[in-house]
Amino acid sequence: MQFLEFARVCERLEGTPGRLDMIEQVAAVLPGLDDEELPVFVRFVMGRVFPDWSSKKLGVGPNLLYDAVAYVVGTKRETVREAINTTGDAGLAVEALLAKKEQTSFFTEELDLTGVYREFERIAAAEGQRSQREKLRVAQWLFGNALPLEGRYLARLMLEELRIGVGEGNVRDAVAKAFEVDVRLVEHAHQAMNDLGAVALLARRDPDALSRVTIEPFRPVKMMLAQAGTIAAQIEDHGEVAVEYKYDGSRFQFHKVGGVCRIYSRRLEDVTESLPDIVTLLREATDHDVILDGEAVAVRDGRPMPFQYVIRRFRRKHEVDAMMEKIELVPRVFDILYLDGETLMDRPFSERRKALEGALREHVTSQFRVTDAAAAESIYAAALDLGHEGVMVKVLDAPYTPGVRGRIWVKVKPGVETLDLAVVGAEWGEGRRAGTFGSFLLAVQDQGRLLTVGKVATGITDEMLAELYALFKDRVIARSGKEVTLEPEVVFEVGYSEIQTSPNYESGYALRFPRFVRVREDKSVDEAETLDSLAERYGRQRNGQESL
Ligand code: AMP
Repeated sequence: MQFLEFARVCERLEGTPGRLDMIEQVAAVLPGLDDEELPVFVRFVMGRVFPDWSSKKLGVGPNLLYDAVAYVVGTKRETVREAINTTGDAGLAVEALLAKKEQTSFFTEELDLTGVYREFERIAAAEGQRSQREKLRVAQWLFGNALPLEGRYLARLMLEELRIGVGEGNVRDAVAKAFEVDVRLVEHAHQAMNDLGAVALLARRDPDALSRVTIEPFRPVKMMLAQAGTIAAQIEDHGEVAVEYKYDGSRFQFHKVGGVCRIYSRRLEDVTESLPDIVTLLREATDHDVILDGEAVAVRDGRPMPFQYVIRRFRRKHEVDAMMEKIELVPRVFDILYLDGETLMDRPFSERRKALEGALREHVTSQFRVTDAAAAESIYAAALDLGHEGVMVKVLDAPYTPGVRGRIWVKVKPGVETLDLAVVGAEWGEGRRAGTFGSFLLAVQDQGRLLTVGKVATGITDEMLAELYALFKDRVIARSGKEVTLEPEVVFEVGYSEIQTSPNYESGYALRFPRFVRVREDKSVDEAETLDSLAERYGRQRNGQESL
């Protein structure tokens, strides 16, 4: 497939508002692709370059993009930045710039889809001191050979935000439709493989094999997520439930086969080098091949330490030993997905728990089975006394559902309700906040789109303001007056007093009294709150169920 054809497909999809039409269009393209193109197309059309399990990253920020385009168009970085500021969309700006460029070279090459992917792989592989120069060289080559419309999607792919609204759910349905297989099989295989591209290939080559796909060690799967809720509602719906302490740490997924261990962060980055102590503890606690799900917790004198201590360790690449002395991390394991060659994800939680207790000698979380709300409330009170964040209330007969934020796991914690929201823009501050960003524009996700839901300015200390400025200053994609558009990569946890409907924001909702709580460094934007779950919270709030 020529890259131009891919760009045309995207352009058509961008003008398609309806979900069913979108699925139809994607499904119509898939059968015509060859085996190399199919997985690449499937990922690209969702705005992703590499499989979700892969820790490969393009590492192209706005500045590198400006430089590459400036070079190709024969202008200055500032001109490109200006153009992007005016349109507010890197893709459209690059397209317009390329359209104006004089034909400086007659020897351009036609880009094809897999060729572009291979160049992206080279960008991702560039490491070390000269990496920026190498990344820039490849980006220049790509833009140098791109027609304007191709430039639009190249730029967006490089920033990993395609803005055409084709989310994972749509592509999953399109794969099922294109190869006439049951969508549940596609979903099952996707959960285990964590790469829709590879699933699409399998759906075409050997649909029967979809049901047999198992989770593979060293290919992390998405973590199962929790929804806010109440103990009472959970017991009412399910009778007996499992109550566990909610540890305030950072999530990990531990893979072990024989003596080889790797550990992945919530964002599925390989953090083995940063967490040697956790790896050793877990390796010593089991004789089996396993994939475990748990939380890394910092402790001092037997008491849990705040989350910030843990995240510092996750980010630490060098001087790990020195940091280890200061912050001791211990694992708390609450689930098992794989045991000695067998996938356990489809088994009920009660069975997985039994397998976990059999496989791991230590570090398994305490669990209480309760049928009675009063008993659960006293466990909750004890959890808070012990310095934990709250409790998790889990459904015992449910399977492990990667990446799903459902009511199978309900988190109960005190205080204001919070939401994890993507930061998509900011406003320059005034007065004391001049020279930094004073407020931030927040968004929920919906099928690959980010829809605004409000701004937050309260709750940010002066020290935090400076940190946030440092965090965001290189993520500015566009400026317009006092406002900037940010590359959506950061998630804020934000408290609020109430969700309201509102015509002022794209999501149709707004937050009353939004308050900054913290940067969710462990979460990526595709883990931000979804529009559906925001709507559900709004519904629950109206029914008066939000309080404990
Ligand atoms: P939140 O990050 O606020 O959505 O809450 C869910 C997170 O709590 C999970 O992703 C885990 O990182 C963490 N957590 C702490 N203790 C547990 C537990 N016992 N079971 C599941 N998740 C837990």
